[in-house]
Amino acid sequence: MEKLIGEKKRVVVVGGGVAGSLIAKTLQNHTDVFLIDSKEYFEIPWTNLRSMVEPSFAERTVINHSDYLPNAHIVTSDATSITETEVVTAQGRVIAYDYLVIATGHVSAGAFSKTEKLSYYKAEQEKIKSADSILIVGGGPTGVELAAEIVVDFPDKKVTLVHRGSRLMEFIGEKASKKALDWLTSKKVEVIMEQSVDLTSASNGVYETSGGEKITADCYFLCTGSRTGSSWLKETFLGESLDIHGRLMVDAKLRVKGYSNIFAIGDITDIPEIKQGYLAQAHASLAAKNLKLLIKGESEKKMYSYKAGPAMAVVSLGRKEGLAQIMCLTIVGRIPGILKSGDLFVGKTRKALGLKSTLS
Ligand SMILES: Cc1cc2nc3c(=O)[nH]c(=O)nc-3n(C[C@H](O)[C@H](O)[C@H](O)COP(=O)(O)OP(=O)(O)OC[C@H]3O[C@@H](n4cnc5c(N)ncnc54)[C@H](O)[C@@H]3O)c2cc1C
Repeated sequence: MEKLIGEKKRVVVVGGGVAGSLIAKTLQNHTDVFLIDSKEYFEIPWTNLRSMVEPSFAERTVINHSDYLPNAHIVTSDATSITETEVVTAQGRVIAYDYLVIATGHVSAGAFSKTEKLSYYKAEQEKIKSADSILIVGGGPTGVELAAEIVVDFPDKKVTLVHRGSRLMEFIGEKASKKALDWLTSKKVEVIMEQSVDLTSASNGVYETSGGEKITADCYFLCTGSRTGSSWLKETFLGESLDIHGRLMVDAKLRVKGYSNIFAIGDITDIPEIKQGYLAQAHASLAAKNLKLLIKGESEKKMYSYKAGPAMAVVSLGRKEGLAQIMCLTIVGRIPGILKSGDLFVGKTRKALGLKSTLS
């Protein structure tokens, strides 16, 4: 067991995504910080669809944890279990904590190192370049943004998107869904709604939908979203703190309800708000402030409370256009494109981690 030694309190952060990377960076010079993540790097999650059409984009968006955490301990492994005092990893390490931060929003499958991830994007781009027709399964933000990246960079490809739901991107309003659909169809993407595809039954590049429609495609991309990263908690004492969606129930201070030294931040929480990275960053900043107070021995009364964020989201539609939902307002086109679609908030996200926005 890796025991607690020295005077500094130990904060163990599990999950090195948007929220976990930021809180580890913020606390590394204040106390003893461990970051446990499944992979060696943090990747700005919403940039991976651009990296599929432009692999070099990933050089700035896939960031080794060691680049922004010179003063923290980095443990590259899945966390598999916890007790009220320790975290256990898949490699069998047992890491004791004074304070725990759970930030395992979604499970990231695939590449373990930055090099592997960059090679993966090169292979994905080759797959797109060599195909005349492409099938995208899933009409959530991933499927919509990928279809948009492909039709903007490769307008001659025939793209078909099949979605099980009755509208695209159910996490935003109906008006926004409709505008996304109109934008895709204006770019000649064929969108088939309320149907699914059995990918295993394809023969000679012909796929059949649940409604009996036949789709010819040289390759496909499965964009049905990634799993919530809470299965490792189910059999632990925190199993009872998960809601029916597998999210951790937190109090206003962002602590798991009923526990004074366990925080949860980001998409893994049950906070009633749209699940977005900029809100995960707000959780990380607030939880870091609360942790600093607790570490200093301040009264709990001084701790900050979190208020659920606004219903705001921006979806990129290729390199120049986008779709923004800001409260009740929905805008599509160049203006939301200026907000997100050019740099995809990469410079801003890198700066939040104390890194230069560019590589040189
Ligand atoms: C297509 C798309 C576009 C988006 N666009 C935007 C946008 O424009 N703006 C915006 O603000 N948000 C956007 N989002 C949402 C944003 O990506 C999420 O809200 C954000 O990633 C949540 O951050 P997180 O830290 O909670 O979780 P994640 O970023 O999912 O990070 C979780 C981390 O935990 C690790 N992990 C999981 N399980 C374990 C385990 N057992 N042990 C160790 N590590 C583990 C994972 O490897 C990962 O590193 C978009 C999402 C999608 C899908």
